[in-house]
Amino acid sequence: MAINAPEGTYDMLSDRKLFWEQFKATARSVFGRYGYVSVETPVIERTELFVRGIGEATDVVSKEMFTAISGANLTKLLAGEKLASKSRLSLRPEGTAGVVRACVQHDLVPQGAPPAKLMYAGQMFRAERPQHGRQREFNQVGIECLGADDPTIDAEGIIMLMRFFAEVGIPRESMTLLVNSMGCEACRPAYREAVLSYMRSHEDALCATCKERMEMNPLRAFDCKNEACARIMEDAPKISDYLCEECAEHYGRVKELLELAGISFVEDSRLVRGLDYYTRTVFEVQVAGSDKAQNAIGGGGRYDKLAEEVGGRPTPGFGFALGFERCANVLEDVGHVFPEARSCQVFVASVADEVRTDAFALTQLLRDAGIQAEEDHQGRSLKSQFKLADKLRAELVVILGPDELREGQVRIRNMHTHEEELIAKDVVAGEIANRL
Ligand code: AMP
Repeated sequence: MAINAPEGTYDMLSDRKLFWEQFKATARSVFGRYGYVSVETPVIERTELFVRGIGEATDVVSKEMFTAISGANLTKLLAGEKLASKSRLSLRPEGTAGVVRACVQHDLVPQGAPPAKLMYAGQMFRAERPQHGRQREFNQVGIECLGADDPTIDAEGIIMLMRFFAEVGIPRESMTLLVNSMGCEACRPAYREAVLSYMRSHEDALCATCKERMEMNPLRAFDCKNEACARIMEDAPKISDYLCEECAEHYGRVKELLELAGISFVEDSRLVRGLDYYTRTVFEVQVAGSDKAQNAIGGGGRYDKLAEEVGGRPTPGFGFALGFERCANVLEDVGHVFPEARSCQVFVASVADEVRTDAFALTQLLRDAGIQAEEDHQGRSLKSQFKLADKLRAELVVILGPDELREGQVRIRNMHTHEEELIAKDVVAGEIANRL
C-alpha cells in the first residue's frame, strides 16, 4: 500500500510553495519598514525551554508537543533508562521561546542597546486533532521585539500586522482585531484569585477539563469551547477592573496609538490567549465565517517575564505570530488569484532529429543569458512539442529547422499572437531577452 504524508501535514507543491515564498517576501518587506530583520532558530529545542517558557499547564506543552528521542536513546529507554533532560528535544510548537532563547544566548540585547527587532518564518508542530485550518505541521511568520516595554512597540507591532494582512490581500472588513491587557505580576494574582473563586462557585456546571485545570490556571477557562463553560465565563470578573495603575496606563496608551493610526479594534476582556508567558497587551486577529476554534489568523502580545524564565536578565518583550495556511484559506474564500509556478519562458523546438544538438546548445545559451528555457527531452513530434510549450505556458518558441539553420537563421513564434519571424541565430539571445 502507498504511504501518504502523516495526518495533519501536507506536501507544499510548486504553486503553494511559490505563494509561501511571496508571502514571506511580503512579510520581510512590510516588517523591514519597521526595522525587523530575519533570523532562523532550530526547529528542535530542548523540551525544557518550552516547559519553562510556555508553561507546563498549557495545552500546547502538556498535550500537543512532539517530543523527539534519538534512536540510540530509544533503545536505552526501552531498557528502562531515564533520559537526561538535555536529551529530551521537542519540535517547536511556536517560535517565541526559541527566539527569546537565542537573544539570551547571544546577548542580543546588552544593557543600553536599542531593542532587538527580529522576524522568523517556518514550520511549527502541534499534535492537535487535524481539521480544516488546524494542522499538526503548519507555517507561521512571526516577530519578536526584545528590550523595550514602551507601548509604542505594542502599537506599531499591531499596526504592522494589520498592514501586512492588507498587503497580502485579506479584506479589512473580514477581520476583527481584539485587544486586551492581561496585567502584570503585580495585579494579575488578585484577578486570578477572583476568577478562581468565581469558578469555584460555579464548579458543578464546568466541564471536566476546566475543573481539572482550575487551580493551576483558571484563566484558561476563558478559552474553553464548551458552551456551558462559555456562558459561565461571560459573567466572570473582568481584568479591566483589576489592572494596576501602570498596566491601565500602558493599555490606555496602546489603544490611543491604535486609534491615532486609524486601526479599529474591539476590546475583549475575555481574550487571554493560550500561552502562560503573556503580560499586559494581548491581541488576536479573527476572521468571520470560519469555525470558531480556527478563526484566528494571527495574534500575540507582550511577555515581559519570558527572558527571565529561560535564564536571561530581565528583558521586556513583545511579539506575534500569524498562520500562513489560515491566511491562505481566507484568501481562497475571497477568490484571491494565487500565483502559478512557471518553469519555462522560452521553448526550443526541433523540426527534425538532425537539429537536436543545435537545440540543446541554444537552450544552454539562453539559460546562460538568464532566460528560463526548456527543450524536448522525449523525442516528441513538432506538433507535440508545441503542445508541451503551451502546457508549460512558454511565451515564445524558438523553432530550429535544418533549412533555416543552414542560412544562420531561426524562427521565433509568439505563443500569444501566433506571429512568427525569422531572426539571425547569432543574435537570438539578445532578441529574445528584448521580447520577454
Ligand atoms: P498561536 O501561537 O496559537 O497564537 O498561533 C498563531 C497563529 O498560528 C494562529 O493565529 C493561527 O493562524 C496559526 N495556527 C496556530 N495553530 C495552528 C494549527 N494547528 N494549524 C494551523 N495554523 C495554526
